[in-house]
Amino acid sequence: MLKNVVKDKYERPILSLRITITNRCNENCIYCHHDGMDSSKDEMTPDEMYTISKIAKKIGVRKIRLSGGDPLVRKDIVEIVEKIASIGFKDISLTTNGVLLKKYAQDLKDAGLNRVNVSLDTLNRDTYKYLTNMDYLNEVKSGILKAVEVGLYPVKINMVIMKDVNVHEIKEMFEFCKEHGIILQLIELIESENCDDDEFSAEHHYPLDSIEKELADIADKVHERKFMQGRKKYYIGDGEIEIVKPVDNAKFCASCSRLRITPDGKIKPCLLRNDNLVELISHIREGKSEKELEEIFLNGINKREPFNKEN
Ligand code: SAM
Repeated sequence: MLKNVVKDKYERPILSLRITITNRCNENCIYCHHDGMDSSKDEMTPDEMYTISKIAKKIGVRKIRLSGGDPLVRKDIVEIVEKIASIGFKDISLTTNGVLLKKYAQDLKDAGLNRVNVSLDTLNRDTYKYLTNMDYLNEVKSGILKAVEVGLYPVKINMVIMKDVNVHEIKEMFEFCKEHGIILQLIELIESENCDDDEFSAEHHYPLDSIEKELADIADKVHERKFMQGRKKYYIGDGEIEIVKPVDNAKFCASCSRLRITPDGKIKPCLLRNDNLVELISHIREGKSEKELEEIFLNGINKREPFNKEN
């Protein structure tokens, strides 16, 4: 039973908030969908993010996720986490490419970050360079190990699966994860018009259904995560693998419990739409009261519609 939680008009509770804290990134991934990003150069300050998180907490949000761009390119990332953590959330997590993780892991842990997802599609240096246009594989690996060492838990690796690129590396990546107590998340490549190379996703898309079947056969236990869009988690020996399927479907929408904030401080009621954003940051900058800001938040929630509805 969920207490003190605001629900939208489709009875979906709002349990988590993803704040995209910057558009800037220090990698240039060939397949990136630039999800959550926009074209603005404006960024929110740590105090502004604190205010937003405080209102979120008031309306019942339990979890905060920070994303980007890459959140670690913000020099004030530790201060951002510290301010948000002081409010008292059940969970604060961050998604990063890991390039700067070694430098920040301990300070982030001390600031109150609970856990981290690190994007890593390959353990092969040439493939890494091809995918990211950068040569940071060693930095990312040592960042991941540092995150484990300082006790960010769980550490998850986000591996986007691509035909003829890294499908054959899943086993090796799973072994790496098991060795270090990391959860492996396999992500289905999403076609994206924002992608720099629009041929890429068509050519390399690999449906995860066949992989799921194999995992189901060998798993000791399978768990379906209700408020995480019904994602399945497979327990295999002492390892864990989660499957992240494309979001453009009714099942994803029916269990969506997440509200989003764009880098320039707008409420984004739906991951798949940009035409119903609700202005927030200018109201904070004008000095609106907490009560007024709460109303704006509720207005954003009121605009939530499942993008895909069940038949
Ligand atoms: N820079 C951070 C990072 O690398 O994790 C956060 C932003 S990144 C856009 C967030 C996640 O989206 C990463 O795990 C990335 O692999 C995934 N992603 C990006 N483009 C994708 C696509 N076309 N299909 C599936 N996942 C994608």
